[in-house]
Amino acid sequence: MDFRLTQEQEQFRDSVKKFADKHLAAGARERAHAAGYPWDVAKLMAKQGLLGITIPEKDGGQGGTLLDAVLAIETVASACPRSADVVQAGNFGPIRVLAEYGSADQKKHHLQKLLAGEAVISVGMTEPDAGSAVTDLKTSAKKDGDGWRVSGSKIFTTHSAYADVFLVYVRFGPGVGGIGSVLIEKKDVKLGKASKFMSGEEWAQLYLEDVRVPQANVLLGEGGFKKQIAGFNVERLGNSARSLALGRYAYEAARTWAMERKQFGRLLCEFQGLQWKFADMKMKLDAAQLLLYRAAANADRGLPSPEETAIAKAYCNQAGFDVANESLQVMGGMGYSQESLVEYCLRRCRGWMIAGGSIEILKNRIAEHIFERSFSQRPD
Ligand SMILES: Cc1cc2nc3c(=O)[nH]c(=O)nc-3n(C[C@H](O)[C@H](O)[C@H](O)COP(=O)(O)OP(=O)(O)OC[C@H]3O[C@@H](n4cnc5c(N)ncnc54)[C@H](O)[C@@H]3O)c2cc1C
Repeated sequence: MDFRLTQEQEQFRDSVKKFADKHLAAGARERAHAAGYPWDVAKLMAKQGLLGITIPEKDGGQGGTLLDAVLAIETVASACPRSADVVQAGNFGPIRVLAEYGSADQKKHHLQKLLAGEAVISVGMTEPDAGSAVTDLKTSAKKDGDGWRVSGSKIFTTHSAYADVFLVYVRFGPGVGGIGSVLIEKKDVKLGKASKFMSGEEWAQLYLEDVRVPQANVLLGEGGFKKQIAGFNVERLGNSARSLALGRYAYEAARTWAMERKQFGRLLCEFQGLQWKFADMKMKLDAAQLLLYRAAANADRGLPSPEETAIAKAYCNQAGFDVANESLQVMGGMGYSQESLVEYCLRRCRGWMIAGGSIEILKNRIAEHIFERSFSQRPD
């Protein structure tokens, strides 16, 4: 076993670091508080080869590994936390599910713009009555000649205000086996009232009112749910990587602060009460990174294991939040203020403990692996 990165991975990380320091670091604070999607960053990243890192070259990607994409998120976030979302959108989210399962025509039609940083794709999975219990989703796809009619509603969809296309989970028939997914263009989606998460990210309810979907836009038909979730595990690793990276961003800010700020005539880093906080933070960050790298490296160019993904995500989510929270405490009023990005990192990390499978739901999955059986969460 070798815990070091390969020479190629180190070179890749160095090149991303140079890019991020040159193009992203200066505007980091402004970008974190700006509304909308950072399209300028997306276009720069497309040129730099940071979109579609794990997508095969024949589909317009870079043909790299999942660990490369994780390194890209970590390195970009170390200069600009908000820009890590662009790495997520261009590598880990529904774009990867589209690249994995989409037909040649679907990929040809959508991937080019997504990989050029000119468009984003959103995933519409959660519904008002189907959150953690996602298989309770009601959005229906009913046969209509050679296509389908889709009706229903989705909430909390990231990028809902400016996505070009939506990957929507639908029900073709009853039960888990009846679930699949379709691609729906922006023009066919009615958006509800604009809202915001605590992180500042915008979302709006999606209304699908008898939308005509041709057969060619079905991504995964009836029986596609398992494949869909297998693809979604990639998204979960992107979520884990951002939790870890933003926790680390806050930690680095606090570390620098503790080596410069004096109280009672001494540097903060000289107080043992704070040294132990830093030791705890460092242990959490290192452990989270090892779990994340294990899940990503074992997936190589494929999809990560559900168990390793659940462990990595639950741990990174908790570690990212705890470390951002302690870093804020170490920085006192300055940490709580928008003068630093530490409060932003804390707000973002909080959301990832819920998004993409909450920590509790992931722990349920881990327990199922431990005891090698499933535990129904439903009443008898
Ligand atoms: C920042 C952010 C971005 C998001 N982006 C998207 C997106 O792009 N697309 C999309 O479709 N959705 C998105 N979501 C929605 C997200 O997937 C759901 O919020 C999540 O699945 C939880 O569902 P819920 O909010 O309805 O909570 P609920 O399911 O109502 O759960 C409430 C609480 O109960 C706990 N709980 C529920 N069931 C159990 C159980 N069996 N055992 C133990 N605890 C349980 C949960 O962990 C949670 O703490 C996003 C959410 C956030 C916060």
